[in-house]
Amino acid sequence: YAAKTAGTSVALHSPATVGDRRQRLEIAEDLFQALERHELTVVYQPIRTPERGLVAAEALVRWDHPVRGRVAPGEFLEAAERYRLTHEIARRVLEVSLGDLARWRDRAVPVGLSVNVSASDLRDETIVNLVAAALLEHQLPPEVLTIEITESAMMSDPDRSRAVMRDLDDLGVNLSVDDYGTGYSSLQYLLELPIDEIKLSRTFVASLAHEERARAIVASTIDLTHALGLRMVAEGVENVQTLTALQELGCDLVQGFHVGRPVPAEEFARLLAPSTAGRHRLPAPGLSPA
Ligand code: C2E
Ligand code: MG
Ligand code: MG
Ligand code: MG
Repeated sequence: YAAKTAGTSVALHSPATVGDRRQRLEIAEDLFQALERHELTVVYQPIRTPERGLVAAEALVRWDHPVRGRVAPGEFLEAAERYRLTHEIARRVLEVSLGDLARWRDRAVPVGLSVNVSASDLRDETIVNLVAAALLEHQLPPEVLTIEITESAMMSDPDRSRAVMRDLDDLGVNLSVDDYGTGYSSLQYLLELPIDEIKLSRTFVASLAHEERARAIVASTIDLTHALGLRMVAEGVENVQTLTALQELGCDLVQGFHVGRPVPAEEFARLLAPSTAGRHRLPAPGLSPA
């Protein structure tokens, strides 16, 4: 009953909450204009085999703010979620990154791309249309694209995200569970959903090389992943010890600061084909065994 008194209701809206809310609104207003002015850009982090073969790029959004400089998504995604701007972000990120991917693949490089989507993107079919339209526009086959979805995003509206994920799967794109192990790691969805890849959270990866329990979790997750016929990506690989441990455990793909930092498109392009093509030159005829 006390909760209904004016005094308590003021206390519930503490100054901090009002401040946070005002700040989120300001960020959202700014972001709305940023989207119109094309201030959102994309950087690419390499995803490699443990032996260093470049397999794909993860597209990570950045906001090139005229005053604040390059802003990381942690600072604006929450505001974007609240003010329903995530579809516009997804539209922009898909447009930019699939354009870049198409240019890379024009050079006959078999590289893939992973794109993150937000919880609110999974609540309606718009995202499926956005993905389909972007693939069509850049004449890319769906299997080159992986959509990364966190467990918590999936669980924020399980029924609707299930339907959206099935439609994305019907489209032919790959689905990845991002930050695996930090949300509601229900084995139920591994059973039911058309998932292709598990991306193990860096929470476990970071302590893998020096903590027995983390190693046990990583090892058994890799086994589970493979038993289900899925591929396993470890994120947050920050040193050579971690990389070696993952290789020993049979992890398929690795990503992290030790493997490669997120870089602009032009720089990512330089990591691609030409050097690789040079290294795989066929031996001279005279030298080949008869
Ligand atoms: P994520 O999808 O798990 O992406 C990996 C994040 O970890 C990236 O941060 C990346 O820069 C960082 N990272 C990579 N290697 C390492 C490492 O070795 N150590 C550590 N400590 N961090 C590493 P970023 O770019 O700030 O993105 C943060 C999160 O924002 C992403 O986490 C993803 O959930 C979300 N996000 C990023 N881009 C997009 C986007 O285009 N759309 C949506 N909806 N979400 C995005
Ligand atoms: Mg991701
Ligand atoms: Mg599939
Ligand atoms: Mg992640």
